[in-house]
Amino acid sequence: MTIKRREFLKATAAGGALIVTGSQSASASTAGETIPPQAVGILYDSNLCIGCQACMTACKEANDMPPEHSGQYSTWDNPLDLSANTLNIIKMYKDGEKYAFIKRHCMHCLEPACANACPVSALVKDRETGIVTYDASACIGCRYCQVACPYNVPKFDWYSPFPQIHKCQLCDHLFQQGRYAACCESCPTGASLFGPVEKLKKEAERRLLLEPDKYYDFPVNHIEKGNTRRHKAEKYIPHIYGSEEVGGSQYMILSGTDFSKLGLPDLRERSYVKDLEGVANTFYKYLIYPVAAFAGLVYLVRKREHHE
Ligand code: SF4
Ligand code: SF4
Ligand code: SF4
Repeated sequence: MTIKRREFLKATAAGGALIVTGSQSASASTAGETIPPQAVGILYDSNLCIGCQACMTACKEANDMPPEHSGQYSTWDNPLDLSANTLNIIKMYKDGEKYAFIKRHCMHCLEPACANACPVSALVKDRETGIVTYDASACIGCRYCQVACPYNVPKFDWYSPFPQIHKCQLCDHLFQQGRYAACCESCPTGASLFGPVEKLKKEAERRLLLEPDKYYDFPVNHIEKGNTRRHKAEKYIPHIYGSEEVGGSQYMILSGTDFSKLGLPDLRERSYVKDLEGVANTFYKYLIYPVAAFAGLVYLVRKREHHE
């Protein structure tokens, strides 16, 4: 089996903290193996996306982030990528007359490599919603999460005297107001759809079976709110991106254009976290012998001292 250098580094980062920080991280690594019962996520359908970028504006407003300028002549390409001030971005793929869009942000992985790499649990996966959240007060700025993330999502505040990591947290701060992810609230076509992960997955599977060029109703904004729009179905690539990659995620993507052409990494199914779990377990298993021997010696010395 061959392993690419980049994959090796990501796997090492994903599991490195598992070995260094011990059982705390080890238990965090198992939290995401199954989808939590109340897990929420997003289904993004590139075939329905018109590139209006309303989701980007809503994201900035909801997360209090300033606009960014890429320095490009095209105002549409502002900014060019995710950053500490841009948690969600719409990118465009152009092939002749054909356009396709892709929405990039945190995937909220079922087995988040970022959380496993974090030595101080500043990134954790919520046991109920499955959202991977960030606690700035715990972060020590080591940036292991950046190296570990297979999607290159977490971004660092390079220009701040007190830098933090920034990434989408699925707008969990809006939930208490009865709201949900701002990108989905604002999407006019249903391309960005919020809801329970299981329901979104069923909706994605339904779309893959639609007959191209026929008209169907598509849920918009929130899959449980009942609003729909009628669209002409287009042919889909027969795969739900994000449902299997590196252990699966709570952000799923459908597209009629090859995922690789949209800039999505071609990832294997097994998560990097799984690889290092075996190493960590072996490490602890054999570490127990010297620890037990040391404890035995301490006991004998204490006993002797007491006797004397
Ligand atoms: S996409 Fe990256 S930052 Fe988001 S949960 Fe997965 S590993 Fe973490
Ligand atoms: S869920 Fe919220 S933070 Fe995440 S991309 Fe959508 S609007 Fe931005
Ligand atoms: S708001 Fe919806 S249609 Fe507009 S760019 Fe975002 S995902 Fe696409």
